[in-house]
Amino acid sequence: MVQRHREYRQKIISHYQPVHKELYTMQAAQFFVPSFLKAINENTEDSFRSIMAEPAPGIYTFEMLQPYFCELLLSEVETFERWVIETNFRIMRPNTMNRYGCVLDDFGLETMLDKLMEDFIRPMSRVFFPEVGGSTLDSHHGFVVEYGTDKDSELGFHVDDSEVTLNVCLGKQFSGGELFFRGIRCDKHVNSETQSEEIFDYSHVPGHAVLHRGRNRHGARATTSGCRVNLLLWCRSSVFRELKKYQKDSSNWCGECQREKKERQRQSIAATKLELLKRDGKPTS
Ligand SMILES: [Zn+2]
Repeated sequence: MVQRHREYRQKIISHYQPVHKELYTMQAAQFFVPSFLKAINENTEDSFRSIMAEPAPGIYTFEMLQPYFCELLLSEVETFERWVIETNFRIMRPNTMNRYGCVLDDFGLETMLDKLMEDFIRPMSRVFFPEVGGSTLDSHHGFVVEYGTDKDSELGFHVDDSEVTLNVCLGKQFSGGELFFRGIRCDKHVNSETQSEEIFDYSHVPGHAVLHRGRNRHGARATTSGCRVNLLLWCRSSVFRELKKYQKDSSNWCGECQREKKERQRQSIAATKLELLKRDGKPTS
C-alpha cells in the first residue's frame, strides 16, 4: 500500500467512531450460519460440497451470513456514510466502476476481513481454485457496493482484480440485480466469445454467498426497485501473481486457452494419422 493511502486510512480510523464494535473482531458463531461453520470446521471437500451448489463450473453458492451480521454491517456502513457527508470527508470509492459504496478496510474492518479470508475463504479456495493461487491467498480488498434506482443501477461486464471473489448479499429489499457470468479468461482472451456452457445467471438472496474466480467474466443487471447492498471480498495471491509473470500457459484456467490447446492437439493428431496412412500407402476415407 502506498504511503498516501496509508495516511488516508489512518486519518479515517483516528476520527471515525464505530457504532458496532462487535463487527471489528471475528466472532464466527455470531456472524455465520451453523451449516457454514460446521463445513469449515470439518475442512474437507465433502463438507464444503454438502452446503454448496455448483450451478455452473467453478461457481459456488451457499448460505453464509446470519441476518444479525447483515443488519449490523448495513447499519455500520450507513453510519460511516453519514459521517463522510457530515464531515465533508473526500472518500475513495471501492473501484473505478462503483460510485456508491465504500471500502471496509479503510474504516477499521481490515483485520476482521483478513481473518475471514484466512480462516474461511482460503480453506475452500485451496480445494476449488488451486490453479489460480487458491491455497496462497494472502491479501484482500474488502468493500460494499450499493445499487438502486437512485444509486448505481447496473454494472458492466468485467473481471475482478482478484484471484478469488466472495460476493455476499447483505440486503435490503430489491428486485432485479442478477449477476451474469460469461466464463474464465486470461488477459489475452478477456473479450473472446462465450460458450453456451459458460452462461450463468444468479439471483441474489440476502445472507447467501457466491464464490468464483476473479477472472470469471461477469456483470450485474439493473436493480429495478429497492436497494441492494453486497459485500465483496477480492482475495489475492502474491505467489500466483509472481508465477504468472513467467508462466505464459494459462490453459489450466482460461477457458479460451483451454480450447486453443485442445484444437492444437486435435490438429496434431489428425496430421500424424494422415502421415501414418501415407507411409502405409493405403489411405482410407
Ligand atoms: Zn487465455
